[in-house]
Amino acid sequence: MKVLCISDLHYVSKKGYEVDFGRKCSYGLEFLKRVLNREKEVDLIIGGGDFIDDVNISSSIDDFRKIKEEFENAGIPFILVRGNHDIEEEKFFEIAENYTKPVILGDYIFYPFHDEYREDNTCFRKKEELEKFEKFCKENSDKKVVAIQHYLIYPDLKLGYPFNIENENEILECYKKNRVFLSISGHYHPGLPMMVWENIHFAVVPAIVEKEFSYFVIELDDEIKIERKNLSVISSVPIFDFHCHTEFAYCGKDVNAEGNIERAFLLGLSGIVLTEHAGQLYLSSEDYWSGKFLEGVEVLKKGKEEKTARIREFKKSLLPLKNEFVRIGLEVECDKKGNITLLEEDKDGIDYLIGAVHIIPDEFMVSKEKMKEGFLKFTEFLCKNNIDILAHPLRFFRRNKTEVPEGVAKDVVKILKDYNVVAELNFHTNQPDPEFFSMCMEEGIKISFGSDAHNLGEVGEFSPHIEFLNNLKADLKEVLYFGK
Ligand SMILES: [Zn+2]
Ligand SMILES: [Zn+2]
Ligand SMILES: [Zn+2]
Repeated sequence: MKVLCISDLHYVSKKGYEVDFGRKCSYGLEFLKRVLNREKEVDLIIGGGDFIDDVNISSSIDDFRKIKEEFENAGIPFILVRGNHDIEEEKFFEIAENYTKPVILGDYIFYPFHDEYREDNTCFRKKEELEKFEKFCKENSDKKVVAIQHYLIYPDLKLGYPFNIENENEILECYKKNRVFLSISGHYHPGLPMMVWENIHFAVVPAIVEKEFSYFVIELDDEIKIERKNLSVISSVPIFDFHCHTEFAYCGKDVNAEGNIERAFLLGLSGIVLTEHAGQLYLSSEDYWSGKFLEGVEVLKKGKEEKTARIREFKKSLLPLKNEFVRIGLEVECDKKGNITLLEEDKDGIDYLIGAVHIIPDEFMVSKEKMKEGFLKFTEFLCKNNIDILAHPLRFFRRNKTEVPEGVAKDVVKILKDYNVVAELNFHTNQPDPEFFSMCMEEGIKISFGSDAHNLGEVGEFSPHIEFLNNLKADLKEVLYFGK
């Protein structure tokens, strides 16, 4: 049984609202989405309270509703407990009623308590609540009990602010009597490692809204295992995002340069390359998606002459952002003659060229053999043009719902090696091939991380990348590309 615990989102949608103490209130909803996107293999999700930051903000009820809907979207059972920052009791239960009750799952009872909060943030639990709990445990005497609440029961933190519930001793005795083997709390933002008292385990879940933006995955078996995970990238080597889209992408959702940079910085990256589809900067969306650039660079020039091209606008708006942390890149494709989708005259100021094979001429799309031939031809075209990185190698076949033809991986490795090009690890609508990357490492080809973000919530999300390379026993210091 796996339980995901996320707590203290302190979400505020209102722009410009920030409190002190490093609380990133505007990120509450996005961070929840990020965690739910990562942790799909859990049996139950627990929201530990303080879903919103301030009940007095007019958007707080809507904000809580959005949070609740995000939990619903995960399609996994979940429980929410009300924290001292949350909206008023009546409204809270009206919105989240179905998710505030005890849940029986396998051998376990998950029992949420909704405690009473006073104006001064002290907290107590009513006697009736404990009696109700005892009764429930007696009716389900074959189950192990997990108790959930916002405030701490144990250990007793005497830190000047009320972190513990007032009648904690009474509650501890009650838990002991009723076979509670795990108690889960939030509220204390740093979180705590697991503690044990009289065979009861205590988990204090950190606040997702404060650095390092952490949450727990708890595994319940004969033993209890808690894994503390972070949204921040924590690595002994610098981590760069070499492939992050901008507001200039036709296929972008809400990505934008400013938002991307803010997230890259917040999540602990060492730098970010704002990379846009070069073809999209010359052509209309219709012409781009129909692969008009395959015809030759004349169509790019025509785009400029007819003033539909946005390359100048792109450079004018993004080049001034360049600094130690921010670099600018272009994701280029090739035409039939082997020219990339970037005119010589526009190369100035661009730091990185990322080559991608998204589409090849129809004449190659007739058989598996021809596809292989065309794909390799265009891959080599790109590499001949001095690209730095090959974007999502081999994804072309996945997109075309075809198995990767035999020998292609090896051939691509050879091309990358011959032209000294970096291989990009990219999970955007993609499942990278471990064998291909093993071969790259054997040949000394460097590997770059690309979020290929089209949503702000994807920027700097590198947990799959790091896990992938760890599974290959890669030494990050050896294999990663750190830029030029
Ligand atoms: Zn809190
Ligand atoms: Zn709290
Ligand atoms: Zn891309």
